[in-house]
Amino acid sequence: MIIGAHVSFAKGFHAAIQEAVNMNATACQFFTRSPRGGKAKDLIDRDVEKGKALAVERGIQSMVIHTPYIINLAAPKEDTFTAAKEILSLDIQRAQILGVQNVVVHTGSHTGSGEKQGIKRIVQALDETLTGEEQTTVLLEMMSGHGSELGGTMDHIQEILSLVKHPEKIGVCGDTCHMYTAGYDLVQDLDGVLDEFNRKIGLDRLRVFHVNDSKMPLGSHKDRHEDIGYGTLGGDFFQSFVRHDKLQHVTFILETPTGVYKEEIAYIRDNAPLPPRS
Ligand SMILES: [Zn+2]
Repeated sequence: MIIGAHVSFAKGFHAAIQEAVNMNATACQFFTRSPRGGKAKDLIDRDVEKGKALAVERGIQSMVIHTPYIINLAAPKEDTFTAAKEILSLDIQRAQILGVQNVVVHTGSHTGSGEKQGIKRIVQALDETLTGEEQTTVLLEMMSGHGSELGGTMDHIQEILSLVKHPEKIGVCGDTCHMYTAGYDLVQDLDGVLDEFNRKIGLDRLRVFHVNDSKMPLGSHKDRHEDIGYGTLGGDFFQSFVRHDKLQHVTFILETPTGVYKEEIAYIRDNAPLPPRS
């Protein structure tokens, strides 16, 4: 089982990998800059080499870069759109330097231009960013479908994939909290949801799944992560979810609010008891 959590990149790549090792993870995810924007720090060769060596030595099999939240590939406004493409492109370059397999980006919000126009814009952004030569895959994240947010339905992703020039460089990042609140009933009908995903998108494109419990109910379209076992999905769900036979190729990444990742990984993977909450 490939499972890990979001770790900090503030002290560099080696420290990020060390944090993952310390929680007995086999995967990790990080931002390479502040999630709310700001300039990215330069990568230091020695730190990169040390981090890569540690990842190999300690069995970190899968790494994910999450692009900053401020990116909006569907933005109608030209400066926002250009900035989004630049940041995505830089994170793809960094992924290749670090040996990171997947770069996650939020699908984007049309902010009033309409779904059709928003999807066209995302396709344009991906076409202008990807050459097809990349050594990394860009994953569109499934969202809760709040407001003008795109990617709350599989149909949006399916449409984007059908229009882009390099669909082979694009995959999908699921999120249990986002998809549940978008209306996909993972708890009562996981097989049905995965069948629909396979029909519309293809399970081979599903590379990463963010595993978060949710403070909000099914179909609420509100994205509020909760600690594993304390939300509307419930602990039992996660233990069976990660063992689903159609998900064994997927990297699972925790992004829960309290961040007791070591214990949450032990609970999900090893059936250890969940830590009590203060
Ligand atoms: Zn995300």
